[in-house]
Parts: sequence; C-alpha cells; structure tokens
Amino acid sequence: TDSAAAGTAFSTGRKTNNSRLGLDSAGNRLHTILEKADARGMATGVVVTSGVVHATPGAFFGHSMDRRKYKQVALGLLDADIDVLIGSGRQYLEEGDPSIIGKLEKRGCLVVRSLEELDDVSEGRAMALYPGDNYGIPTIAEGRSPEYLPQATAKALEIVTNNSRGKGFFLMVEGSLIDKMCHANDAAGMLAEIRDFDNAVGVALDYAQAHPGTLVIILADHETGGLAIPSGNADFHLSESGIGYVWGSVSHTASMVPLFAYGPCATRFGGVLENDEIGRRMQEVLGLQP
Ligand SMILES: [Zn+2]
Repeated sequence: TDSAAAGTAFSTGRKTNNSRLGLDSAGNRLHTILEKADARGMATGVVVTSGVVHATPGAFFGHSMDRRKYKQVALGLLDADIDVLIGSGRQYLEEGDPSIIGKLEKRGCLVVRSLEELDDVSEGRAMALYPGDNYGIPTIAEGRSPEYLPQATAKALEIVTNNSRGKGFFLMVEGSLIDKMCHANDAAGMLAEIRDFDNAVGVALDYAQAHPGTLVIILADHETGGLAIPSGNADFHLSESGIGYVWGSVSHTASMVPLFAYGPCATRFGGVLENDEIGRRMQEVLGLQP
C-alpha cells in the first residue's frame, strides 16, 4: 500500500486505491475518524514532521482522488475544525485570496510559523505551519532538533486536553520522515528519525499514565525498505556475533508491521489485523459509528 490508501484505511475503516485520500475505490466521500470525533464535540489534532497535507495527515481530513493535489487536500481543513495542527507545507495553504490560512484566521484559528511560537499557547485553535513544501521541516540528519516531535506532541496534547471540555480527543502523530530515510536506504538517518518518534511515544505514554482513560496506539502504515537485521556472524558458538543490516528495497514492502496499544481497550488491537479493521476498531472504542 501507499500512505494515502493506508492512512484512509486507518482514518475511515475502509480500504481504497493507492493515492486516494478519504474516498472509497469508487470515489465516494468517506467520513474520517477525525471528522466524526469533531462532530461529536471532541477536540482533534494532527502532528507530523512532513507537510500537513502529505498523504498520512491528509487522510484524516482531506478528500481527493490524487494525494498530490495538495491544495484540494488542504480544503478539508475548512470542513474539519482541527484544534491543533503542526507540520510544514505552508505554501499549499498560502495561495489564493483569501488563502486557506486567511480563511482559518478569520474563523479565529491562530496560525504561526513554528512550534516555538506556540510556547505561550495552551488552548484555542492553533496551527504551527512551517514554510515550504512537504519537506519544509528538515530531517534530523539535515539539522532538525531531535526534540521536535516529542515537544510538538506535548504541545498538541496540552491544547487538545484544554479544548476537550470533558468530551475527549483524537490526536494523530506521525514520525513522517522515517519513511523518507527508508526509501533512501539511509540506516543512520532512519535510526535518528525512529529515536525522535520513540521519544514522542514516551511523551504519549507518560500522558496516558497521568490521564487514565487515554488509549495510545502505536503503529505503522507499512514497512519501507525491506530492512533485515541479520546476525553479524553465522557462527552461533560465539558469545557475541554483532548485527548487520541489509536493505531489500527502495520502496514499500508487504512485511507485516507491529502495533502496540496501551490503555483502555488495548486488547481490542491484538492479533493479526487488516489495516481497515484497525480503523473500524479505533472508531468503535471512541464510541463512533464506523
Ligand atoms: Zn513511502
């Protein structure tokens, strides 16, 4: 799968064709978990290291036959009242007069250009949209702070908590550049992005421990690169053989990916699950109609 179809399976509980966002294979509009949670009065948020209209985040609010029609994907932001959105791709929301950013601001949404500008913001609708395209935020190898994703996750949790008014929230956080590093078969770069994501997971788990009733689901939409981690030596009589790594692809693979869940209803996510089944179960545990 590509990230558009996989993201749509998670966000809607329905499989679709590659490259489609929030639409079924016949092109019919699907309602996403984020849109349904918003309609139920829950707070919602999306945090990524890519552009906010890239395939995975876009699958939660966008509706397009082509994931690369970024301006069309961005229109979904006007329908779904997302409480907090953090990522790059600002250029796709700046075109037109009024631009999508202009329309959002008119509705009372604060739109800034970096995470630091949200330091004093703890409630209300807020977006930190970094300039540039879908890769407007650098990889860690290119100089991004390894604290970006955990800090963005903490800020988003703070805002959705204060905005939820007892009705709960749905927050999607993606370590988006893991995939980019795997496409490049860049092992060191991938490890840096994984560590950033792992730190964000830590923030989410700490939050869940402090706020009973929070379910944290950690998963991947697909594997990329066909990475194998073989023993460094075939002689298993050695006390230590070390490890190596071998890439099998520069694209996505059909390898099964792990899912970890912590909190209430975590056992609903055990076993071997299709991606659309995970999407339906996420809606069920939120009390939504898949
Ligand atoms: Zn990819």
